[in-house]
Amino acid sequence: MIRISKLTKPLLATAFLFAGTIAFNTVSAQSSSQAKMKTFIDGLMAKMTLEEKIGQLNLVVGGEATTGSVVSTGVEDKIKKGQVGGIFSVTSPQRIRKVQELAVKNSRLKIPIIFGLDVIHGYRTIFPIPLGLAASWDMGLIQQSARVAAQEASADGLNWTFSPMVDISRDPRWGRIAESSGEDPFLGSAIARAMVKGYQGDNLAANNTLMACVKHFALYGAPEAGRDYLSVDMSHIKMYNDYFPPYKAAVDAGVGSVMSSFNDVDGIPASANKWLLTDVLRKQWGFKGLVVSDYTSVNEMIDHGLGDLKAVSALSLKAGMDMDMVGEGFLTTLKASLKEGKITQAEIDRACRNVLEAKYKLGLFEDPFRYCDDNRAQTEIFSDTHRKIARETAARSFVLLKNQGVLPLQRKGTIALVGPLADAKENMVGTWAVSADVSKATSLLAGLKAVAGSNVNIVYAKGANVADSLLEARTSIFGKPWQRDNRHPDTLIAEALRAAANADVIVAAVGELAEFTGEASSRTDITLPQSQRKLLHALNATGKPVVAVLFTGRPLAIPEEDKHLPAILNVWFGGSEAGYAIGDVLFGDVNPSGKLPATFPRNVGQVPIYYSYKNSGRPQGTDEFQKFRSGYLDERNSPLYPFGYGLSYTSFGYSDITLSSKKLKGAQKLTATITVTNTGKYAGEEVVQLYLRDLVASNTRPLKELKGFQKISLKPGESKQVSFTVTTDDLKFYDHNLKHIWEAGEFTLFMGGNSRDTKSINFWWDK
Ligand code: BGC
Repeated sequence: MIRISKLTKPLLATAFLFAGTIAFNTVSAQSSSQAKMKTFIDGLMAKMTLEEKIGQLNLVVGGEATTGSVVSTGVEDKIKKGQVGGIFSVTSPQRIRKVQELAVKNSRLKIPIIFGLDVIHGYRTIFPIPLGLAASWDMGLIQQSARVAAQEASADGLNWTFSPMVDISRDPRWGRIAESSGEDPFLGSAIARAMVKGYQGDNLAANNTLMACVKHFALYGAPEAGRDYLSVDMSHIKMYNDYFPPYKAAVDAGVGSVMSSFNDVDGIPASANKWLLTDVLRKQWGFKGLVVSDYTSVNEMIDHGLGDLKAVSALSLKAGMDMDMVGEGFLTTLKASLKEGKITQAEIDRACRNVLEAKYKLGLFEDPFRYCDDNRAQTEIFSDTHRKIARETAARSFVLLKNQGVLPLQRKGTIALVGPLADAKENMVGTWAVSADVSKATSLLAGLKAVAGSNVNIVYAKGANVADSLLEARTSIFGKPWQRDNRHPDTLIAEALRAAANADVIVAAVGELAEFTGEASSRTDITLPQSQRKLLHALNATGKPVVAVLFTGRPLAIPEEDKHLPAILNVWFGGSEAGYAIGDVLFGDVNPSGKLPATFPRNVGQVPIYYSYKNSGRPQGTDEFQKFRSGYLDERNSPLYPFGYGLSYTSFGYSDITLSSKKLKGAQKLTATITVTNTGKYAGEEVVQLYLRDLVASNTRPLKELKGFQKISLKPGESKQVSFTVTTDDLKFYDHNLKHIWEAGEFTLFMGGNSRDTKSINFWWDK
């Protein structure tokens, strides 16, 4: 927030004038570099044959990490023939150099290849899964995590990442919610901007930045029944108000590429959806970069029922697709389609130009080996500095869900560390960490011992398997080892109880395996598996305090655990340093400050559940069942833990809200202020959240919408005034005509530490 005093105003005016000159210079510099790029690419394209142009649209996989059943073949030969535009899943400067040499020495026009990978939440130094990163509500940290990832991946030869995934998800059954920023468009947009900035920096051609790829366009996070890849059927006002904003935020932040999604939208798969790829993305949002399909998503339109490979490839290109990932439908059919008049030369040229422009912006024409430095990897990957940042980030992503005075732990006595996820370093990095070296991750057991120091005695027992053998087997991919304990479940529990017998406190490491979430990992049951529930029950029956350290990639339904356990710390999958970070938080070296980016339901039947719902004409009013009111016979409407929720070892008090004015007009600005006081014993951080409700509008409007947040730190007893500026932009919504408008009238402004427990005040805004 910038406050403008009378004194500084003239100075600022000069600054703006000056900034105007800079802006003009930047614009003219930009247009001259655009012109230079155009001249270069025009010249190159004039020399290209049709086959070479189509070759640029081909993205193949190198085979180190694949997510589909198809794997590219004959890659070397194709590169020499100019039939490969990009490769992903090949890493290391040496290997990449070799492949690049094939392109720039052996192909006719020596066009360099672009090298990509799914660098999702870190490269070798692994950060918390995206849902966990989102829980930090700290845009600086999130941007920094992407910066570190870009530094490491580029030191290993890469120049393109298939991240950030910004799909809004309000359905914890969907496994890829782990890779998302959760349910909210405002938070999701802020994160999208931070990630793009972190990866791309200010200069795509720098050798330590990556081109980002926002995905999956569009609406991939809202498949029917939470089942991966399935249809999305959604009103346009919901798309524009709730699901599109993060993609648009990434585009506005200058993201270099966009990936289409697997699902259909309005009956047309995204990869052939002209409305999405051209009308919305290019015409409405002004996107100028590269559009790439998802893994064989062009071919998959055959199964969607849109025709044979030739037909779907033509449809995709015409819709606005530039690059075809792995399926090679473009490579093998576009020439014939052109001959038959199904597509135009201009459409091929457009796609080819977009691919070449991406390479140009990455500086690859200037130096195809720009990212192939043989020395950088030694010092820049998994460095002590990066590991330290990852540890701090992880600690700040954890969410304290419950604490009845058990935490933080004392550095004395005996701790029984029990549970199937306590000594499981391969599980710490979470889903979508294909470049992680899991052998270098730290388990909770190792981390806790290191952080505890010599005054604490830690005894360990596994206590249970994570789940039944079928579920465990189905979730073992990417070659991750997972050892089941084949002893009888009762034997495991008995061993755990023996370990707990002399303990002062029990720490139970429970939850999901990392691959319970991620791609093709939807679940219909989002409670803890039976094996672990039995273990917790037995541990709780000892009468000793049980702290659950909950590993999860999705909101889980844990009402029983909430009822019976005195403390629950949700740690998501915190990355390679999470073992230490959990220790830091359990012992109180770091006070937890994470807040949920997605609602935790009481019961999977409440799904989709999110805080920004609408009232219906028959709201319950209270959280109790009432006949002929919108609710359930067998469950409350409210969630177990609301969006934005998370406790601290300290407590925070909120004053009433003061407004700069209660009646506003036109382009005025409103300042809303609240005083937050640390009323507890520990220094801590709090995420102060601001929500708005439009009380009367031409369209039904949500009961609350996040419009601002600030993370502040407070010493015990300290108070801070937190102010937010609200403008008419914050009142805007897309109406039934998809006009982005605000309407005059009365609004409620809420402030608080989560979406449920807020102070509120009303104000009026006239046109
Ligand atoms: C996923 C994408 C990913 C791609 C390449 C697909 O299966 O949906 O998110 O970027 O594979 O690995």
